[in-house]
Amino acid sequence: MLSTMQEAPLSIAQLLRYGSTIHSEAQVITWTDEGPRSASYAEVGRRCARLAHALRGLGVTGDQRVGTFMWNNQEHLEAYLGIPAMGAVLHTLNIRLFPDQLVHVVNHAEDHVILVDPTLVPLLAPRLPEFTTVRHIVVSGSQVPEFDLPDGMTVHSWEQLIAGEPDDFDWPELDERTAAAMCYTSGTTGDPKGVAYSHRSIWLHSMSICMTDGMGLKQGDLALAIVPQFHAMSWGMPYAAFMIGASLLMPDRFLQPAPLAQMIAEARPNFAAAVPAIWQGLLHHLEDHDDDVSSMKLVVVGGSAVPPSLMHAFEEQYGIRVLHAWGMTETSPLGSVANPPAGTEGDEAWRYRYTQGRFPAAVEARLVDDDGAIVPKDGESVGELEVRGPWIAGAYYGVDSADKFDDGWLKTGDVGRITPDGYLTLTDRSKDIIKSGGEWISSVDLENLVMGHPDVLEAAVIGVPDEKWDERPLVAVVLREDSDTTPQVLRDFLAGSIAKWQLPENWARITEVPKTSVGKFDKKRLRSSYKAGDLE
Ligand code: ADP
Repeated sequence: MLSTMQEAPLSIAQLLRYGSTIHSEAQVITWTDEGPRSASYAEVGRRCARLAHALRGLGVTGDQRVGTFMWNNQEHLEAYLGIPAMGAVLHTLNIRLFPDQLVHVVNHAEDHVILVDPTLVPLLAPRLPEFTTVRHIVVSGSQVPEFDLPDGMTVHSWEQLIAGEPDDFDWPELDERTAAAMCYTSGTTGDPKGVAYSHRSIWLHSMSICMTDGMGLKQGDLALAIVPQFHAMSWGMPYAAFMIGASLLMPDRFLQPAPLAQMIAEARPNFAAAVPAIWQGLLHHLEDHDDDVSSMKLVVVGGSAVPPSLMHAFEEQYGIRVLHAWGMTETSPLGSVANPPAGTEGDEAWRYRYTQGRFPAAVEARLVDDDGAIVPKDGESVGELEVRGPWIAGAYYGVDSADKFDDGWLKTGDVGRITPDGYLTLTDRSKDIIKSGGEWISSVDLENLVMGHPDVLEAAVIGVPDEKWDERPLVAVVLREDSDTTPQVLRDFLAGSIAKWQLPENWARITEVPKTSVGKFDKKRLRSSYKAGDLE
């Protein structure tokens, strides 16, 4: 029997209409050289309509792709809403990709127009001759900096382009399954691959961001969106903010600890999201500066495992709750969130909070061993995590990638265990696991433990070849400048927490852990440094 309910497609246009009218007074605040500038969601709504008219004027029709090469700011938010609402596809470009990767993703997605911040023009301009489908470059603001433009391309200033366009747009009704936005993976483990999100998947995902037991974003929050809009859709914050009436604080290019601390002190956000490296940097900064971060109540941290020491430091010294979450570009990205079960407190609650968390009802998860057999969720058995659900990718755009899927499930490449009450603990990415004498050592566990030492700023662990054991862990460690802590001291520090055979004998002191384009530990680069003999 068919239901008696209405067929109402979920769409970004609906989010845009809702946010810009019902929450018309919510604000997007963008940080600039001269302090903050803001606009209401009502104003954002009008500017989205003008942008859509302007893009139609540039020939954007149907589901053509419009790329963005931008920091997190008001104009990028307008692109997020206006482009999908008009039926085109927003393609966020990672500004930190290697040049040939950038050329690959622009040409692969067949971007027609690229919107760019003026400060990023010098990074984009040298690549323009290699773009095969791009016809227009739109530079945000009213000035266009000088640069060489290849034949067949035109440059426009954003403000001049939208000036005089109407404040409303007849947003088309779309099939909710059509693509609204696309994002290529950051390529931590290979070439970037495109994920195309649908209007429906973004809608459902936004609802999970706003659930109390999701990320808990709510009306009246001021959310500092540090996760770049070019990285896994800023973890869905722009769409969720329009859905629930939360205001957004956009850091633009000011992502270093000092300006972030200043932003928090002056604009007083209560909510934020970013990868652990950002919070580690902020924590270190706050040790010697007394910026007032008391407005901040909840920060969502994910993208790589969060060291428990970081969670405790923020909570105990600054009253900031750190919520650990797991996800991937392919999972929109929210996959699991570590809210502890109701009724738990103290150490018991902490043990749950250290994990990667529980999956929402829409995300089904299972663990699979090397032979493809399903592993029980008993909290001990380990396997590769596979997930499926309405906001999980079922394929990559335009490439045959059957090996990344298993009978309709996404193979995440992450390895871990799940408890009977549904909490996921990741031990590693499958390619980072260290196999020593036939036994597994979790690089993540070791990193978390070493980073718990007060003299350690950062620590990354890789497996290195060993004649006797095949592989042994090597710890690349960044110590405080004035520290003379030795490997032996660190080994003694670890001794009580792990088995003797897991204790690393290889240590290298480095000045900084190399990071990927989205701020994660870059173990590929650490491995090449080791091969080149630079990590002794
Ligand atoms: P890339 O795959 O290029 O790094 P993503 O941002 O999509 O780009 O990364 C997803 C991966 O990041 C996951 O598969 C997982 O390995 C890692 N990750 C994300 N969140 C966590 C977390 N909370 N703990 C451990 N690893 C995480």
